[in-house]
Amino acid sequence: MLTGKHFINGQWVDSLFGKTREILNPYDASVVAVVAEGDREDAKAAIKAARLAFDHGGWPQTPATERARLLFKLADLIERDHEELARLESLDTGKTVEESRWDMDDIAGIFRYFAGLADKDGGEVIASPNPGSTSTVIREPVGVCGQISPWNYPLLQASWKMAPALAAGCTIVMKPSEITPLTTLKVTELAEEAGFPPGVVNTVLGPGAEVGAELAESHGVDLISFTGGIATGKTIMRAAADNVKKVALELGGKNPNIIFDDADLDLAVDYALNGVFFHAGQICSAGARVMVQAGIHDRFVDALKARMEKIVVGNGFDEKTQMGPLISADHLAKVEGYVEIAKEEGATLLLGGKRPDDPDLQSGYFHLPTLFTGCENDMRIVQEEVFGPVITVERFATEEEAVSRANDTIYGLSAGFWTRDPDRIERVSKALRFGTVWANDFNVYFVQAPWGGYKQSGLGRELGKIGLEEYTEVKHIYRNHATQPINWFGPDAE
Ligand code: NAD
Repeated sequence: MLTGKHFINGQWVDSLFGKTREILNPYDASVVAVVAEGDREDAKAAIKAARLAFDHGGWPQTPATERARLLFKLADLIERDHEELARLESLDTGKTVEESRWDMDDIAGIFRYFAGLADKDGGEVIASPNPGSTSTVIREPVGVCGQISPWNYPLLQASWKMAPALAAGCTIVMKPSEITPLTTLKVTELAEEAGFPPGVVNTVLGPGAEVGAELAESHGVDLISFTGGIATGKTIMRAAADNVKKVALELGGKNPNIIFDDADLDLAVDYALNGVFFHAGQICSAGARVMVQAGIHDRFVDALKARMEKIVVGNGFDEKTQMGPLISADHLAKVEGYVEIAKEEGATLLLGGKRPDDPDLQSGYFHLPTLFTGCENDMRIVQEEVFGPVITVERFATEEEAVSRANDTIYGLSAGFWTRDPDRIERVSKALRFGTVWANDFNVYFVQAPWGGYKQSGLGRELGKIGLEEYTEVKHIYRNHATQPINWFGPDAE
């Protein structure tokens, strides 16, 4: 049985009040680990350690080349333990091991990318209007960062936060989702092995309402970076207001995938599947809202249904499996609830809509790939994030209608569309109000490109150069080389 403790100030410690939590495998609800379950007091201890390491431990002053060296080393260690990490992620989340292997490839690349950026910014000399003076703009680490990650891509989301913060010279308190802490714990071990000084990397386990809330409220934290649901994001933003800490939010999405009449039908169907069924649809950027132009609608729906019927649902450790379970019993109940809502709203259920009949899959949290047609813009099943293997199809007539319906949402994370018309690609890419827009593709992201949402999908950006800048404060240093008296208030009295 795996175990896990908090990592605070370079030490592995139990919860102050001795509490623990069982971690379940979503495939069969078996217990795979028992880990420490922290509360506000454990979070306070970690914040104190991160504060000391930032204010007095010399981490922000450590040469950027040395921070880069440690991050490169960590990337090497992640590659060394790649298979172990991938299997741990699948044990914790139920996703296929193949998917987890891709995640681990990305994660090593993320640490490398930010290691490479760490020593590239030497500041900028700007034109000063005053003769005999110089003005320089530099970036400094923002300070102690609270980092809260979700359960769907546990280590990927954590690495989007850890790597830039450490590269910038911040110290961190990472709080993984309480139901999927295993790979974050493993990477914390690897950070210790890489040689990050005590207090620079701290990991505290426990529920959001305790550990996460303390990070959001604490005056000892300078920046809170959160990935998760909109409601939690709003709570965190309110809590952060008390000491006006910087807030970075990566929230949910309900992402349109628009298929125009002139699209390549086979490609559009293929990518519609990729857009949704990775990790059983538990992806913030899932293209779960498919919009199809009238001329291609019926052929598209038939082809999509035929391909969806063939998706192999099962144990993520079985090489044949294409889609694993949902994360928990609660989440399965939520997805089932949305299926009922869609039926009540008048959508047509073409496929799925229930758990699989396979007797081997009854103790896990499985749900079949599900297809609804006849959906309308104002339905809850279209507007709300289901976060499961459910596609809704809406029919539209014109480009204007498609764009206006796609933009009619509180979300703004990502959108995709399919067309062969280059002019339309130009027009629609600009008209869609989303942080990422894919033309003739879906769900592509890479560390060089910024990621984040318009509207209620978030605040700030992760990844890319801007992902590092989020962890910095901007300072203007003005130096007068030949200071003269001003005598604005009159010359000195005798
Ligand atoms: P969640 O909001 O329930 O939890 C996310 C994290 O916040 C967890 O670590 C949880 O413990 C913590 N938390 C809960 N309540 C808290 C509180 N009051 N104060 C501080 N922390 C608290 O989200 P989830 O169910 O884990 O994740 C799914 C959501 O994450 C979806 O909405 C998905 O779209 C979103 N997500 C967004 C992105 C993105 O890049 N925009 C990426 C992945 C997931």
